[in-house]
Amino acid sequence: MFDITTSGELLAEFMAEARNQRFDAAGRFHGPFASGAPAIFASQAARMGARVAYAGRVGDDGFGDLIVARLRDDGIDVGAVQRDAERPTGSAFVSYQADGSRRFIFNLAHSAAGQQTLDEDQLERLAACRYCHVMGSSLSSPAAIDIVRRLVARVRANGGRISFDPNVRDELIERPGVREALLELVAGCDIFLPSDADLEWLAVAGEDMDASVARLMAEHRMSLLVLKRAAAGCRAYTASEVIEVPGLSVEEVDPTGAGDCFGGALIAALAAGRELHQALRLANAAGAHAVTVLGPMEGCSDLATLEQRLAAAGETQ
Ligand code: ATP
Ligand code: MG
Repeated sequence: MFDITTSGELLAEFMAEARNQRFDAAGRFHGPFASGAPAIFASQAARMGARVAYAGRVGDDGFGDLIVARLRDDGIDVGAVQRDAERPTGSAFVSYQADGSRRFIFNLAHSAAGQQTLDEDQLERLAACRYCHVMGSSLSSPAAIDIVRRLVARVRANGGRISFDPNVRDELIERPGVREALLELVAGCDIFLPSDADLEWLAVAGEDMDASVARLMAEHRMSLLVLKRAAAGCRAYTASEVIEVPGLSVEEVDPTGAGDCFGGALIAALAAGRELHQALRLANAAGAHAVTVLGPMEGCSDLATLEQRLAAAGETQ
């Protein structure tokens, strides 16, 4: 029995050295770094001691070796990480702009990541878990959506809970079936982890944020909604309370992966039986820690690191 199962894109990431670095001229890049939103989530959760299983696909190449080794080193079960003999590992090139936004070139759909499958044996094994986490970024094609649907249905049938981070990306949402799949997960999850921008996407005309949250919680099965608020921290809503946890004060070096680390820490803490206030503080600390380190998965942290961060901020667990 796993604490957490997650599935989705695995990729090698290259980061432009300079701000505003262009993709249409030669320049220096740092990498490869192991990456992919669900992988960052999984790494964070595993480093906190959760038993995590991963389903994904990489090529039979050096990037694939790097990623599998990284997941394995974190203690993640990689039995359902497939190797593709035909296609290379997925990749992403990222360049930070002066205004803090990011530009990407992704090679996913035509890479090994885009060929992921999930057979009945793998499904059976992975679905024996307490939590199944889904990233909206993984709902990138009809085949990928089908994998998530089957996994979610089986986990639910086994009595497991579904957590969902919509991670809505403009370039993804117009693809066939993506919007419907996102809405299906919003309706079907137990724990919903949006950012401000994700909630805006879900708001109906004239609705403010509080009204959106109230409506989503009334209309759907979710019993916990945690709004990620970047440097401001997070706000959690349950049927009976609203918990506001201010962000830790840190120096932001690289915002990539903060939301994924936040989610990984939150679900790992809940799976470990921690009460919600405590789990939220750890998740906040994991997000804050993530932004202080360069590289998508390099800012994943263990419990001792998070406790040190909280202690330094004057918070006790
Ligand atoms: P991502 O870009 O990874 O998808 P996100 O939009 O899902 O991010 P954010 O709200 O940016 O999520 O970050 C997640 C959490 O990380 C926040 O709720 C907060 O706890 C922490 N965090 C992010 N940025 C900072 C920061 N600059 N200072 C302190 N904490 C931060
Ligand atoms: Mg996010």
